[in-house]
Amino acid sequence: MRSRPGSIKSNTHAALADPVLQEALAKLKTGFQAKRKIAAANLPEFDALRDQARDMKTMVLNDLDSYLEIFESKVVEQGGQVHWAETAQDARDIVLSICKKANAKLIAKGKSMISEEIMLNHWLEEHGFEVVETDLGEYIIQLRKEPPSHIIAPAIHLNRKQVASAFKERHKELNADRPLDEPRALLDEARAILRQKFLAADVGITGANFLVAETGSFVLVTNEGNGDLTQTLPRVHIVLASIEKLVPTLEAASLAVRLLARSATGQEMTSYTTVTTGPKRQGDLDGPDEFHIVLLDNGRTAMMGGPFEDMLRCIRCAACINHCPVYGAIGGHAYASFYCGPMGSVLTPALAGLEDWAEMPDASTFCGRCEQVCPMRIPLPRMMRAWRERAFERAITPTATRFGLGVWGFVARRPWLYRALVNLGMPLLALMAGKRGRFAHLPLASGWTKSRDLPAPEGKTFLAQWDAYKKGGGR
Ligand code: SF4
Repeated sequence: MRSRPGSIKSNTHAALADPVLQEALAKLKTGFQAKRKIAAANLPEFDALRDQARDMKTMVLNDLDSYLEIFESKVVEQGGQVHWAETAQDARDIVLSICKKANAKLIAKGKSMISEEIMLNHWLEEHGFEVVETDLGEYIIQLRKEPPSHIIAPAIHLNRKQVASAFKERHKELNADRPLDEPRALLDEARAILRQKFLAADVGITGANFLVAETGSFVLVTNEGNGDLTQTLPRVHIVLASIEKLVPTLEAASLAVRLLARSATGQEMTSYTTVTTGPKRQGDLDGPDEFHIVLLDNGRTAMMGGPFEDMLRCIRCAACINHCPVYGAIGGHAYASFYCGPMGSVLTPALAGLEDWAEMPDASTFCGRCEQVCPMRIPLPRMMRAWRERAFERAITPTATRFGLGVWGFVARRPWLYRALVNLGMPLLALMAGKRGRFAHLPLASGWTKSRDLPAPEGKTFLAQWDAYKKGGGR
């Protein structure tokens, strides 16, 4: 689960001081955020669809065992094979054994967060396979030996010059003086190289956006068509998916697809939305001879029936990430987990343990924008709060913070004491701030005053103003 060393705290300073990253993150507002807003506004039933999608997914989760069984039987009926992986290691072993049996050398891969979660590329490379990412963003970060910094735009942290220099460094067989100043030139180069890989690959591995129980199909959405080449050209196709990707019917899948594209990239539909059922049949012009689906649990079952179950409705659209002010300031790598932003802050501790990841739910301002834009109506702030409570209860929260929260809890439960302290503290702070009315340094607030002044409180306390308001009859 760990994408890189360090913690959010230790990675944040470098992220804030990285001008290229900051320039890329600034584009979130005009890019993903603005496009999602327009796409949602153009679909009058958008909010009604969100309610339907939430209810549909909740229904599936309430009866997940049955839907999984139906799905398995339909896949087998269509000539495919289903493999059950309880842990990340189980999934790695299953994929490895399929690749070995296929005498594979080259593996083409579509973008898959599950493969990041189980660190599949590293495992396959250790066992002598060549693995090539075929999504352009994933291909770029693979060349740079980096983890993704966003779940749908893995190379969002890079600019054109960095991509060009990665291509020059790694595509050694090409003329070193070729111009790579235009995005078109970069695209053409990547396309020419990847086309050869698609044709030569023995095994294709993709993720799945949705698994359809009634037909045993899986749905894959991409904007580059790489997923389709990955699944149709190699002899063997492996789909890696986690168990909560199930939807009951094709109609339910279409409901989720309508929300996914709009919430993710602001498109009505992604360029390619493909529904695949089983391997190549007699008379088919293309398609794999073998079709495998690896269904991964890796901690999801343990989330069922608890405070984090709602997270299993997630369709990985990244809207919560795109609208999160913390992600917008530090980017994805700072989280050190493959899942970043609000969805990552809930999911990572659930899958990999709170002990190592208690910082992630703290990386939120609780502004609530993530929940506002989530197409599956997942209560992300509530779940991050639940993780914070658990961290406090298990004494994972640092002692100083625990002490501060303990004092706050004591005072907040005694309104008379709270009022007395605020009535005393406000004029005292105003006096200490003097004529300037601001603090350049204040003990216990040094994190704030290190980079900006803190205004001193002015006028009466909120409670005093509220009392006066009520006495005035609400005027
Ligand atoms: S939590 Fe919601 S907004 Fe975030 S990725 Fe999942 S579905 Fe999208």
